[in-house]
Amino acid sequence: MSVIDKIKNSNGPLFTFELLPPLKGHSIDRAYKAIDRLIEFQPAYINFTTHRNEITYRERPDGLLEKRVTRLRPGTVALAAAVKYKYNITVVPHILCGGFTKEETENVLIEMNFLGIDDVLALRGDPQRGTRTFIPEKEGHTHTYELVKQIINMNHGKYLEETLVDTTPTDFCIGVAGYPEKHVEAPNMQTDLEYLKQKVEAGASYIVTQMFFDNSKFLRFRDECKKTGINVPVIAGLKPISNLNDINLLPQTFHIDVPNDLVSAIRKCKTDKEAREVGIEWTTMQSKELIKEGVPGLHYYTLGRSDNIARIVKGAF
Ligand SMILES: Cc1cc2nc3c(=O)[nH]c(=O)nc-3n(C[C@H](O)[C@H](O)[C@H](O)COP(=O)(O)OP(=O)(O)OC[C@H]3O[C@@H](n4cnc5c(N)ncnc54)[C@H](O)[C@@H]3O)c2cc1C
Repeated sequence: MSVIDKIKNSNGPLFTFELLPPLKGHSIDRAYKAIDRLIEFQPAYINFTTHRNEITYRERPDGLLEKRVTRLRPGTVALAAAVKYKYNITVVPHILCGGFTKEETENVLIEMNFLGIDDVLALRGDPQRGTRTFIPEKEGHTHTYELVKQIINMNHGKYLEETLVDTTPTDFCIGVAGYPEKHVEAPNMQTDLEYLKQKVEAGASYIVTQMFFDNSKFLRFRDECKKTGINVPVIAGLKPISNLNDINLLPQTFHIDVPNDLVSAIRKCKTDKEAREVGIEWTTMQSKELIKEGVPGLHYYTLGRSDNIARIVKGAF
C-alpha cells in the first residue's frame, strides 16, 4: 500500500522513521540493527536518505592536492529494496535533483519500479559542501517541483525519450519536504509556502516537515498551508536531541530554533548521556501533544541510532 493510502486508511497517526545508508565500507547489518529495535512498534514505512557525490581533496605524497569525487553513503535504493523484502514493509527512498541528470533520475526510478518500490520522497538537495548556492547538473532539475513533474510524467507513461511507444506507466506516490521555520533560502514564509504549493500542484500527495522542537511552529505552519490552499496531509518530522552539542549544531545545519526551555535543560546536563535523556523526554512530550492535535503521522529522524526513538514511541503512542 502506498504512503498516501496508508494515511487515508489509518485511524490514528502513523509511526515512521528515516534511516541513512551505512557509510561506504560498512555492513548493511547496521541498518538492520536500527530497524530491529523499532520493528515491534509497527512502523507504517521507512524512509532512506540519498547522499550525492561530494568533492574532497587528498594530499598526494608530492604535496599536491588530488581532487576526488566520492559518495560517502551509496546504496539507497538497494538498501530500501533489501529492507522491503526482509521485513515486508513499505519503503520510501529519497531522490534528489542535486548531483543527478534527468536521465540518471529516470534510470533510478525504473530500478525502483522493477524492484516493486512505488513510494518516493522528492527533494532538491542542499548546495555542495562549502558553497552557498545550489547549482543543478547541466541536464538536471533546479527545483523539486520539476522533479515531481518528471515522476508524474512517468506515471502517465511519458519517459524522457519521446519516441518510445507502448510504454508502461509507473505508479509512484510522491512526498515532498516542508519547512515550519521556512527554508533557509526563501525570502519569506509566504513565498516558501507558494513554492510548496507548486510542488503539491505538480503531483505530490503529502508533505513531511523538517525537524522542529517547538510544536506551535508546526501547528502554525499547518494552518498556513491550509490558508495557502495546500490540502494534502502534513507529517511532522521530529528528532530527539542526542548529545550536548546538538543544541549548537542542529540550528546551524538545519536552520531551526531550539526553544529556551530545552536549551536550559540541556545546559544543566554534564554528559551526552544526560542530554540524550532530556532529548527523549522532550520529543516524547512533543509527540504526545501532536497526536492530540490529530497529525496524520510522526516521522522520526534516527541518524542511524534508534534506541532513543524506541523509548519515545513506547511513551507516546
Ligand atoms: C523530510 C526531509 C528529508 C530530506 N532528505 C534529504 C536527503 O535524503 N538527502 C539530501 O541531500 N537532503 C535531504 N533533505 C534536505 C533538502 O534536500 C534540503 O532542505 C534542500 O535545501 C531543499 O530541498 P527541497 O526539496 O525542499 O527544495 P525545493 O522545494 O526546490 O526548495 C528549495 C528552495 O527553493 C525555493 N523554491 C522552490 N521552488 C522554487 C521556484 N519555482 N522558483 C524559485 N524558488 C523556488 C524554496 O522556497 C526553497 O527556498 C531533506 C529535507 C527534509 C525536510
